Amino acid sequence: MVLGSGPGGQKAAIAAAKLGKRVAVIEKRHMLGGVCINTGTIPSKTLREAVLYLTGLNQRELYGASYRVKDEITVTDLGMRTQHVIGREIQVIRSQLARNHVTVLQGTGRFLDAHTIGITAEEEREEKKITAEKIVIATGTSPARPSSVEFDDRTVIDSDAILHLDRVPETLVVVGAGVIGIEYASMFAALGTKVTVVERRERMLEFCDLEIVEALKYHLRDLAVTFRFGESVAAVERRPRGALTLLESGKKIPADCVMYSAGRQGKTSELFLEAAGLAADDRGRIAVDENYATEVPHIYAVGDVIGFPALAATSMEQGRLAAQHACGEPAGDLHELPPIGIYTIPEISFVGKSEDELTREKVPFEVGISRYRELARGQIIGDSYGMLKLLVSSEDRRLLGVHVFGTGATELVHIGQTVMGCGGTIDYLVNAVFNYPTLAESYKVAALDAMNKMRTVARLTAEM
Ligand SMILES: Cc1cc2nc3c(=O)[nH]c(=O)nc-3n(C[C@H](O)[C@H](O)[C@H](O)COP(=O)(O)OP(=O)(O)OC[C@H]3O[C@@H](n4cnc5c(N)ncnc54)[C@H](O)[C@@H]3O)c2cc1C
Repeated sequence: MVLGSGPGGQKAAIAAAKLGKRVAVIEKRHMLGGVCINTGTIPSKTLREAVLYLTGLNQRELYGASYRVKDEITVTDLGMRTQHVIGREIQVIRSQLARNHVTVLQGTGRFLDAHTIGITAEEEREEKKITAEKIVIATGTSPARPSSVEFDDRTVIDSDAILHLDRVPETLVVVGAGVIGIEYASMFAALGTKVTVVERRERMLEFCDLEIVEALKYHLRDLAVTFRFGESVAAVERRPRGALTLLESGKKIPADCVMYSAGRQGKTSELFLEAAGLAADDRGRIAVDENYATEVPHIYAVGDVIGFPALAATSMEQGRLAAQHACGEPAGDLHELPPIGIYTIPEISFVGKSEDELTREKVPFEVGISRYRELARGQIIGDSYGMLKLLVSSEDRRLLGVHVFGTGATELVHIGQTVMGCGGTIDYLVNAVFNYPTLAESYKVAALDAMNKMRTVARLTAEM
């Protein structure tokens, strides 16, 4: 029995079904596919694609600063594409579950005891009871809402409500410069909204390469984004036409809309975990071991409900691995080289170590850089700012980290991930022939750059 049909739940259900088990997934009405399909990953990434297409932003280098596919972009223009993709994705999931004979039970599930789940559907008064030998909890998260802030889903909103705005705001305050906050800030900035980002910390995206975060900030400022780092929100006051965000420093920021992106809370409050002998922490997260088993060995938990890294990509793998373990099938480990993709405009992706981490760990490394503007493909597509950076071990030329900024970053990173996963060195990249003209070629250029720098160091060292 799987609770929740997001990426973690789906893959757990299908993996168990493939191993010949009878499987059911419990999911709330209108939520098949989870947060991923309905309110999170897929709508936000489709919205981004619609923004890029309709604003013509990526074409302005070639056709001039005033180039646009559509002058007045409305929420209907944006919503059309999002709804189309969500609809198709739900069909794909429904069909995958059906052809693997997974039963989908509609309703909200809760534990009655460690093997029994009660299911309440909106239209039925009676609670259904279902028992299962093994249970996977994949109930995900919902946006955290600070109790001091009055949300109205129109003016003061979270990342779920931003998909249902009735117009593109002229001004927007984004509270919280985490991944979700910055992704939406960049999309609205591209649409022409004047965005102010308020972040309590002095930096944003601390886990990313500093040089790349600086490049992103430069681009966002160029799109009229204002950053207020090291500032906290004291209060948000709703007004007839918009809201006033009051900062603890005394600043007042007027805006049509305020979006809070202040982390997420595990969806465990409805589960009655205590009936199964389980508990969640204060952020609604469930603790698991290396096999995703909870304290109650036949109950597993996967995906966002177990916390970091809380990505669709990792949730899917956790679901598959948990189901295999639950069904007694030998399961591998989640690979230790998870890539990170941040779909800002421009996008960021990386795998492996950052310069800061290597420096802290006293690992000697060399940097190889390739800039898209020096690649024929970069010129053809009009991306003059993109870059790829390789961090290479000065001792044995192994690839230690790959950081990409610009067009196709989230795709390109996987070439580096593959080389790193196979323990490869940059010799492979130096000697390989890449299609021309491609952005993938940046690997060869960056590898040559690192190799040349290492050669210079070796020569000077030998002269001493
Ligand atoms: C705006 C946004 C953008 C994102 N972008 C990305 C991205 O680009 N890349 C990426 O990898 N990840 C991204 N994520 C994260 C990604 O969406 C999550 O990591 C992923 O959806 C988590 O999957 P999950 O299986 O844990 O469950 P979820 O997708 O959270 O789904 C959980 C499901 O469980 C159901 N449920 C909850 N309680 C019950 C109950 N009691 N009974 C029955 N059903 C229940 C819910 O209705 C829900 O459908 C993004 C998230 C957000 C919010």
